[in-house]
Amino acid sequence: MTYNALQVLTACALIFLTACASTPMPREGDLYINFTLLDPKTEARTTDAWMLVADGEIVRTGHGRPPRVESTRMHDMGGAFALPGFIDTHAHVTLGRIAVRHEGDTPVIVSISEAEITAHNARLLLAHGVTTIRNPGGSTEMNRAYNDAVRDGALLGPEQLAAGEILDTSRIDGLTLVVATPAEIEAAVANQAAAGMNYIKLYQGLSEDLIRAGVESAHRHGLRAITHNGAISWTRAAELGVDGIVHAMPNSADTLTEAAREGYRGAEVVSSHAFYTWWERVDLDSPQVRELIDTLAARHVTVDLTLVVFQKTFWGDDEAVRDDGIEFTHPAMRENWRTFRFDAGWTPEQHARARAIWPKIQRFARMLHEAGVQLTIGTDLANPFVAPGYDTLTEMELHRDAGIPAWAVLRAATSDAAETMGLERRIGRLARGMEADVVFLSADPSQDIANVRSTRAVLLNGARYDAASLRAMPIACSSERASRSDASSSSRAKCPLTP
Ligand SMILES: [Zn+2]
Repeated sequence: MTYNALQVLTACALIFLTACASTPMPREGDLYINFTLLDPKTEARTTDAWMLVADGEIVRTGHGRPPRVESTRMHDMGGAFALPGFIDTHAHVTLGRIAVRHEGDTPVIVSISEAEITAHNARLLLAHGVTTIRNPGGSTEMNRAYNDAVRDGALLGPEQLAAGEILDTSRIDGLTLVVATPAEIEAAVANQAAAGMNYIKLYQGLSEDLIRAGVESAHRHGLRAITHNGAISWTRAAELGVDGIVHAMPNSADTLTEAAREGYRGAEVVSSHAFYTWWERVDLDSPQVRELIDTLAARHVTVDLTLVVFQKTFWGDDEAVRDDGIEFTHPAMRENWRTFRFDAGWTPEQHARARAIWPKIQRFARMLHEAGVQLTIGTDLANPFVAPGYDTLTEMELHRDAGIPAWAVLRAATSDAAETMGLERRIGRLARGMEADVVFLSADPSQDIANVRSTRAVLLNGARYDAASLRAMPIACSSERASRSDASSSSRAKCPLTP
């Protein structure tokens, strides 16, 4: 044994054994102490925990007396509860307002991407503990710019895995790309793959042949394919190999009993009334629904139901529900939703019909969960009345309301979502070698999901942010950071975005 080895051993013995595993201790870092570490993956609750963070990563975790490390900043978390940062799997973070432009006599719907709204949404997601998002569709160029800005530190927000333009048969500028043939799909997928997108989103107008072409070319390029179904059933989409399905609206006639198909036009009529008319007809105990659920489970198709966007539509005439969290939305979006909203023109009877099927949606969610279909927590951010970050937490509560246990909901928002996105080696758990994406809460959400709202602090790649300060920050700060190339002291004082 050399003198050096002996010296190290002695030093280790002086501290204590847990501090002497193979990883060398960093010379600098942040040591978090005095919190309870929650691991949704194993449902473990470790009290009196500590966590050492350096270079954006978790170096070590443990409990009891923490290790002594040179030049370490100590953070006493005052008895908080620490979880892996939340993942919102349906956040169109780069989408802004919807407008109608006229090309001659033809009205064209345009989805505008605006830097200030993107920056606002990104900051508010983080302020509620969301450190990673899946963005299931938007401008490829804008989504790529988002990734670049977050990586370069010009924009403060969650890491994004994204799809580019949604492939469909109908045109929304800035959001969809119209495709009519398998060759056009192949070309679109190749472009999005080259631009660094991770997902291909296939929309409701696509025929079975086009969905098949989309799934196959996505997989050839190493991307995942997700669908918002319409023309074909969820069962068929799963058989065609889609990786994920979005929205609680499996509106295909094929999933209804023969008697219920009579006169059903929901899947053909693309209007928001399709949000509830299929549910009025479906028999959740039918062989068709059983087959749907069994196929999703057998083929490991993941589902994000985006319950909150339906809740805000069905209760669109009830301000208490619709405007819950509205203070976190960008004012320009609020203004936009005075005209652009899914329940525009609905009568009180139609709102009542929609609300009447809500228990069926809840039961369906529970059936999916109980059959082993992987649910994730997605909100459909950028759509009417969805509040960035705040409603990621609402979505968790809505899953709880559907009868899904707290730990399972927390997994859906952390480790399970990480696995469905292929990120389980980097995020979703608080363990050695993982990214230091952490949410600190004042109360334990494994006891009561509502406690996910008690956000105190958030770590994003090891940088610490105070949740209340992030929420209270003036809107101008988001774009300020995006536009400034050097961090001048005056803007830093007004917009304290750095920890
Ligand atoms: Zn969406």
